Amino acid sequence: MTSTPHGSLHTRGTRCLDARDVAALVRSIGVRQSLVQLAEYLREDFLRWHAFDKSARAASHSDVGVIELMPVSDGQLHAFKYVNGHPRNARHGLPTVMAYGALAEVATGFPLLLADLTLATALRTAATSALAAQVLARDDARNMALIGNGAQAEFQALAFHALLGIREIRAFDLDRRATDRLARNLAHIQDLRIVPAPSIAAAVQGADVVSTVTADKTRATILTPEMVTPGMHLNAVGGDCPGKTELHVEILRRARIVVEYAPQTRIEGEIQQLPPDAPVVELWEVLAQKTPGRQTREAVTIFDSVGFALEDFSALRWLHNVALAKDAGRILGFVATPRDPRDLYGWMMRDEVLVPESLKEALT
Ligand code: NAD
Repeated sequence: MTSTPHGSLHTRGTRCLDARDVAALVRSIGVRQSLVQLAEYLREDFLRWHAFDKSARAASHSDVGVIELMPVSDGQLHAFKYVNGHPRNARHGLPTVMAYGALAEVATGFPLLLADLTLATALRTAATSALAAQVLARDDARNMALIGNGAQAEFQALAFHALLGIREIRAFDLDRRATDRLARNLAHIQDLRIVPAPSIAAAVQGADVVSTVTADKTRATILTPEMVTPGMHLNAVGGDCPGKTELHVEILRRARIVVEYAPQTRIEGEIQQLPPDAPVVELWEVLAQKTPGRQTREAVTIFDSVGFALEDFSALRWLHNVALAKDAGRILGFVATPRDPRDLYGWMMRDEVLVPESLKEALT
């Protein structure tokens, strides 16, 4: 065990959680419980807003999607996530969103955890949406329209069920098989009814909350102004890139808009459609009670979610703690740490390095 300024955080090994490790960990805790725990980590970190070294993510765009890098640090721990968004990936047999990331100690730069974050992204996105809805939706909100029933959908439904008390989901997707899958996957949840809707307008009519979680690299208008009625809360998740939005601009002009980190959301969120100085509130300000969330029963509120690095910091911190408690995953020598730290060459040439069978012949 190596001692560091912050105690004995690492053992010359990095804990590695692949996708199956994370899935097993979440199942062992329970999805509902994982969402509840993660929401608490998120709340704690949003309330420490000024402790973080924040920046908008670096995005590399192509015609078919985006690849993004998302770093953040609180001075003790550093986290980054790699994430893609390729709405047409299903035709290659791949998810639209895939992610991995690492948590490192700032004192030495040593990576403590390397993990798949595909599942954690779905969990943290849903938990953040529900956390925002707790301060933005009406207290008596019980039903939600869920437009876009892809990979994120079950997590959104379960987070709103666990953290907001949503009891009915009116689901719509262009692909009816997606809605059927959502209904099938959540059929065992008590107190949660999934009702397939024939159109977006039918799903949204009379809804207390509307979540848009569609994927298309275009200026879509999933919601138009006449669908939005007083008192609704809109949880806009799918618009998260320049040129990729879900709400008609007129809806934005009439609503109270809450964002994660304004400098990033002005580039990527629904509010890219508004002037650069349009008034918005950051989620931490509402959680810290510096400004109100919902101001009147009739107000229309919007959480313009794009996904911010701090949420992945919380997810990695949570994953690291639960993996430590359950000794999940494997400890790997993921980065080189020679016994003599300056003898990198000698370390490579010595027997300390286990040479795989396939390379032995080449070395003799
Ligand atoms: P996915 O590809 O698995 O699912 C998207 C679903 O939307 C598909 O079932 C598709 O048929 C449906 N859809 C597309 N256009 C539609 C339309 N016009 N009307 C109704 N349904 C439509 O993608 P996913 O992983 O579920 O992600 C959904 C979206 O959320 C993506 O745009 C992704 O980039 C975004 N996302 C945002 C965050 C965040 O933090 N804000 C995090 C993760 C994903």
